[in-house]
Amino acid sequence: MSLLKIAQIGHPILRQTARALATEEILSPDIQSFIDDMVETMRDANGAGLAANQVYNPIQVCVVEVEDNPRYPYKPRIPLEVLINPMITVLSEEVFENFEGCLSVPNIRGRVRRNAEIQMDYIDREGTPHQKIVRGITAGTYQHEVDHLAGKVFLDHVFDSTSLCTWQEFERHYRDEFVKEAEAVVAKYGS
Ligand code: ZN
Repeated sequence: MSLLKIAQIGHPILRQTARALATEEILSPDIQSFIDDMVETMRDANGAGLAANQVYNPIQVCVVEVEDNPRYPYKPRIPLEVLINPMITVLSEEVFENFEGCLSVPNIRGRVRRNAEIQMDYIDREGTPHQKIVRGITAGTYQHEVDHLAGKVFLDHVFDSTSLCTWQEFERHYRDEFVKEAEAVVAKYGS
């Protein structure tokens, strides 16, 4: 396994729409070892997720995992998941506010609105299709990653530019208030 370089905002690959994979491709040794590298790269960077075009490969693959994450201590846990050709269906009008950051947008966080209840359709690394309903903060994490595969970044959803801040200023000025909001979202949606 090896660590992959992470594209930074401004690189055109982050604005490219990723292409879907056929099942035979998913099972190929190349894609399987690429997935291993993505997981290793996400963990090394303390990311909650990573999309393939963030590592210069515009294919429809993203990985998500939240354990005890120093970047996002309030996020509910998500066991490691590999999502291939993911599709999101919004299940309700409800939205919540999230304070997001991104490994491709160094040292900036900002407030975005995310759908609170979504259905995810995707294929796993063995080529098996899955469907599941995801709510709350965890739903926001999936929306962030699937956005990458459509060439979007969280900055596109920031509705109030005065919320933009560095990680240090987030800790100083916004963290306490936001942790309470995040806890309320988790209490309401269970994740
Ligand atoms: Zn990101």
